[in-house]
Amino acid sequence: MDEKDQQEYEKICYMCRRPESKAGSMIVMPGNMCLCHDCMQKVFDSVMGGGADLSNLDLSKVDLSQISGMPYRNLNFNQPENLDGVGDIGVSKKQQIKKKKEKKGPDFEWKDVPAPHRIKHQLDEYVIGQERAKKAIAVAVYNHYKRVYSEEVRALQGQEQEPEDQVRIEKSNILMVGPTGSGKTYLVKTLAKLLDVPLAIADATSLTEAGYIGDDIESVVSKLLAAAGNDVEKAEHGIIFIDEIDKIARKKETSSRDVSGESVQQELLKLLEGSSVEVPVGSNQKNALTPMTTVSTDNILFICGGAFPDLEHIIEERLLKSSSMGFGAQLKDRYEKDANILSHVTNEDLRKFGMIPEFLGRLPVVVTLEKLTKELLVQILKEPKNAILKQYVKLLQMDEVKLVFEDEALEWIAQEALKRETGARALRAILEEYMLDIMYEIPKDPSIGSVIITRPYLEKSGGPLIRMRG
Ligand code: ADP
Repeated sequence: MDEKDQQEYEKICYMCRRPESKAGSMIVMPGNMCLCHDCMQKVFDSVMGGGADLSNLDLSKVDLSQISGMPYRNLNFNQPENLDGVGDIGVSKKQQIKKKKEKKGPDFEWKDVPAPHRIKHQLDEYVIGQERAKKAIAVAVYNHYKRVYSEEVRALQGQEQEPEDQVRIEKSNILMVGPTGSGKTYLVKTLAKLLDVPLAIADATSLTEAGYIGDDIESVVSKLLAAAGNDVEKAEHGIIFIDEIDKIARKKETSSRDVSGESVQQELLKLLEGSSVEVPVGSNQKNALTPMTTVSTDNILFICGGAFPDLEHIIEERLLKSSSMGFGAQLKDRYEKDANILSHVTNEDLRKFGMIPEFLGRLPVVVTLEKLTKELLVQILKEPKNAILKQYVKLLQMDEVKLVFEDEALEWIAQEALKRETGARALRAILEEYMLDIMYEIPKDPSIGSVIITRPYLEKSGGPLIRMRG
């Protein structure tokens, strides 16, 4: 590690694994091994039989080679390079923590946060349809960063501000409800990219109550810290997306302890609300060898997403009950046909589904995504900035072959995708199935100038149209 790097990262005590920001200044030993004063004292106590006072000790005069019994953890100082992949002694690169900078102003400029219409406009370039969801997310994100900014300004001003005029904006975490493959994860990924903030994606099904097999709740923050390059300040402005949140609904009939359902919701509460958590650095396991640091989740935007199967029925039932005028059958028919019944969702429905009220209370923005229609799927194939078709066209372009898809062929693909009921995710799978032969055969013959994918080719009743050069 060069000197500049060393200044950027915190020193970590070799024994207690606490970083400089927690344990205070470090004593640097031969081979760059760092020890905090507490541990150094302990070492001397054990060597000298206790009671040793470090205050008058000049460490530079201590001949370390003369002290036997130092807990060097079998380190050979003469050959520090023996430790593969280890930068500083005992601390691997991915466990290094970026030092906090001295705060002179808020971490970002207000003018750098794009207005909602600009966020939506940028999302439009990648995400097809889902207009309401994009709008709601753009506003929620804008408000979130407004809150972060005002909290930072307030913290910097300290006690100077009058308490009366302090309107505290509450956290606006988001709950996203929508069928599989409708673009929930994709929307969040795109959002994080265009805001240039770190993003961690976790699966709620892998989380369990602390102490049980599975990941602890804090592991999601640990992931975010890794995504931010162990820069705590950067992580504290990031986004955490927890997928499959519907899977931690309260279990209906269970006699055993519900370690992955309601109790996970309970434990997530404190993260969603904002609290300081101790997280292991560069690992998702806490043990004596992993350095720990504190991350505050106050300004982290949490987005939870899930498909919530059967939620439609709960909504339908409620809507039917509320209209008790006797047109039940007719209405039932109408609701059943309503592809967007999810957009009528209320907290009451989600509660019935098995989410606990406190949990829902901390996700005040509920966004619903529509089931993708055939038309939208065709658009997804060709319109986004990195559309799958554009990718294939580019691949063949490198062989100087022009690739064209007939409109009917695209419709056929969309129809097939609908049958698979995995939303837009099916599109790529289908295309890969059919493009394999094309991508294999075309480069064989350099005289081929263009390929047109036709519907009969996909239906296996014909071949693609191939034109030669010239
Ligand atoms: P889920 O809702 O299950 O999280 P994903 O976001 O993972 O679904 O979607 C799977 C893939 O489908 C994405 O990687 C993206 O390429 C594509 N996709 C889904 N929805 C859309 C959409 N509305 N616009 C463009 N692409 C989409």
